[in-house]
This record gives sequence, C-alpha cells and structure tokens, in this order.
Amino acid sequence: MTLVVREQVDLRPYNSFALAVRARWFAELTTDEQAIEALNISQTLDRPIRVLGGGSNVLLTSDLEALVLHVRTQGIRILSDDGAQVILEAEAGELWQDVVQYSLQQGLSGLENLSLIPGTAGAAPVQNIGAYGVELRDVCAGLTALDCYSGQLKDFTPEDCAFAYRDSRFKREAGRWLVLRVRFCLSRYAPLHLEYGLIRQRLHEQGCTEPTAAAVSAVVCAIRQEKLPDPKILGNAGSFFKNPVISEQQAQSLRAAYPNLVAYPQAHGQVKLAAAWLIDQAGWKGFREGDAGVHRLQALVLVNYGQATGAQILDLARRIQEDVVERFGVLLEMEPVLF
Ligand code: FAD
Ligand code: NAP
Repeated sequence: MTLVVREQVDLRPYNSFALAVRARWFAELTTDEQAIEALNISQTLDRPIRVLGGGSNVLLTSDLEALVLHVRTQGIRILSDDGAQVILEAEAGELWQDVVQYSLQQGLSGLENLSLIPGTAGAAPVQNIGAYGVELRDVCAGLTALDCYSGQLKDFTPEDCAFAYRDSRFKREAGRWLVLRVRFCLSRYAPLHLEYGLIRQRLHEQGCTEPTAAAVSAVVCAIRQEKLPDPKILGNAGSFFKNPVISEQQAQSLRAAYPNLVAYPQAHGQVKLAAAWLIDQAGWKGFREGDAGVHRLQALVLVNYGQATGAQILDLARRIQEDVVERFGVLLEMEPVLF
C-alpha cells in the first residue's frame, strides 16, 4: 500500500499535551516499504521527517514544516525460546502496554515494572523508558532502525544504542533514526524487582506472598492510576524534568541547608535528587498561569488545562528551571523532546 500524505493536519489528537499544532504534511506508516517511500517524499519536498509515536513525550511548540510520520506498524512475535529465556520482537507502532500484556500472557517477566507507560514500542528505546527501578536497557536485546540519512536498515545491539538515564543514541541523534522494531530478552524464571516504592508493600497488603510478574504489573498499574493524571482528561507528558544527578559533595552541602532533601545514592559516588521535591520546595506545585500549569499533586508534571500553547508550557518550564538553579544551584533537564 502506498503512503497517503495529508496536508495541514491538526496534531491535537496525536500529542498527549493536546496542543493544537499543524503538520504541513502527515502520513500514517504501516509498513517498512512506506518508510522508504517517506524518505523519498521528504527529499522531493526538501523538508525533514519528524517521527511521532503516541506523542506522549513531545512538546510541540509551533506548526511543523515537516513530513510527520505517525508510526502505526503492528506485530508482536517470539523469535526464540529455550525454555528459560525468550526473545520477543515488537513492531514500532505497537502500543507499549500491548507489548507488556503480550509478554505477561506468555508467562514472561521483565516488562512488568514498566507497565502502563503510554506510547509505542518504537519510542521506548528512544528515551530508555524507566519506572519502578527498571529501565528498557535492562531487557533490550537490540533493535532494527532505518537510517533516514542513508536509507539503509541497521541492526543495533543494546551496546550500540548507548542507553543512559532517560536517554539513548536515538534521542541524541534526533532526526536520523526511525526505529522499526525492538527486541526484548525476557525470562520465565528471573527474579522480580519489588524493592522500589510501594510495590512490596502493596503486594504484602494483598496477602500475595509469591508474586508473579502479572501480580507486580497489576500493582504498578494500580499505583500509576492513583498517582498520575490521565492525559485524556488533563493534557500532560508525564515527568517534564529528569531527576538531576549530582556529586556527593554538592548533595552534602544541599543537605546542610535542606535537611529534608530527597536524594538517592547512585554508582560512582553520585547522588540522584528528586526533581519533584526541588520544584515543590520552590513553591511551583499547583502553580497555574492561563491554561499552563504544574499539577497540584505531581510537581514534576506540567499540564495543559485546555488552551495552553506549547510556547506557554515551554516558558513555564524555563521559569521553573531558572528558579531551581537560583535556589539550589541544580539545573533541571527537560525530558520531552521539543518539536
Ligand atoms: P513520542 O512522544 O511520539 O516520541 C518521543 C520521541 O521519540 C520523539 O523524539 C520521537 O521523534 C521519537 N520517536 C517516537 N517513535 C519513534 C520511532 N519509531 N523511531 C524513532 N524515533 C521515534 N516515560 C518513562 O520513561 N517512564 C514513565 O514511567 C513514563 N510515564 C509517563 C506517564 C504519563 C502520564 C505520560 C503522559 C508520559 C509518561 N512517560 C514515561 C513518557 C512517555 O510515555 C515515554 O517516553 C514513551 O516512550 C513515549 O512514547 P511515544 O510513542 O508517545 O513517543
Ligand atoms: P515516586 O515513586 O514517588 O518516586 C519519586 C522519585 O524518587 C522518582 O522520580 C524516583 O526516581 C525516585 N525514587 C523513588 N524511590 C527510589 C528508589 N528506591 N531508588 C532510587 N530512586 C527512587 O515516583 P512517581 O512519580 O510515583 O513515579 C514512579 C515511577 O514511574 C518512577 O520510576 C518514575 O520515574 C516513573 N514515571 C516516569 C514518568 C516520566 O514521564 N518519565 C512519569 C511518571 C512516572 P526515578 O524517576 O529515577 O525512578
């Protein structure tokens, strides 16, 4: 099937902030062949390609003079199974939660802590999605991507992906790679990760003494639904800032000034601060100006109450950054990708 390119498409339904921005050209991608076709069209138009999955980690700040590709490719399959370890592959356009559900139905563990993260499988490696002590890099067995510069397909090992905290080669080399399918190394027997947040406590309250991956997933889903605003009701892109990682020395001097500082020790003598705590202390939690605001319960989540523009959300984010730097000497890095 040839690629259908539409013009002047309203992207409001395609981004979780529900920002009203137009794509000059827009197409839904359902096959690899269409991806190659899209490269040719973008060359003819002399305009870049912007890849959009579920739009849950982007901030659209102005109309896009680009060919926006909404990735809709489908398919989840088991590539190998030795009875203990299973390699699962998902097409980029599959919803992330459908991949998690599929893995649980097969009796596999590895993805349960990443349950209910919005968006698509293809975007998961882009920011090395993470939650409740697990990151994509812990389970990624590699992926296949199209090099939009050369038109060649390339297989990546996990090492090639250069995963880092909410980051990867694909996020850093924006515009170059179109992830087509992702592979996961999952297990029938690996231990579960229960140490993070409320997981163990909730399982205990339920009388669950021998938890399964499915039980952990159910707990994670329940906690997330209690804590996080649903983008269908209130526009947002999840955490807007990454948790800053600083030196133990800097953490010590901050602790002297703020004894309640929320900080978690990391490898190599570094310390991760809870960005939400910094924003809350600085008085931004619940702040609202026009329709752009900071969620009243989740200081890390910027929200669109209805008619905010991407530029207004960005302006608010920059003001929070400046204030936090002034008060704590710590720069909060934005997590969503700016379009
Ligand atoms: P998009 O927003 O469409 O795209 C994000 C970036 O990836 C863009 O640069 C885009 O160009 C690129 N991209 C998308 N698809 C492809 C592809 N196939 N090939 C190449 N590049 C691509 N994130 C977490 O890490 N952990 C969480 O717990 C979490 N919770 C969230 C909760 C809420 C309520 C919301 C709204 C967001 C949350 N997020 C979380 C952020 C977001 O859901 C993830 O980053 C997710 O992986 C984004 O997927 P997407 O398909 O929506 O990507
Ligand atoms: P939470 O459990 O209330 O924890 C607050 C912060 O403290 C988190 O950012 C988390 O860092 C950190 N933290 C908590 N326990 C920790 C531990 N034992 N060791 C190290 N760090 C710890 O957070 P939440 O807001 O409800 O979110 C729960 C999980 O979902 C978190 O992992 C969070 O990252 C993830 N999440 C991500 C997004 C997003 O858009 N990126 C949105 C919602 C939720 P980490 O963030 O590094 O885990």
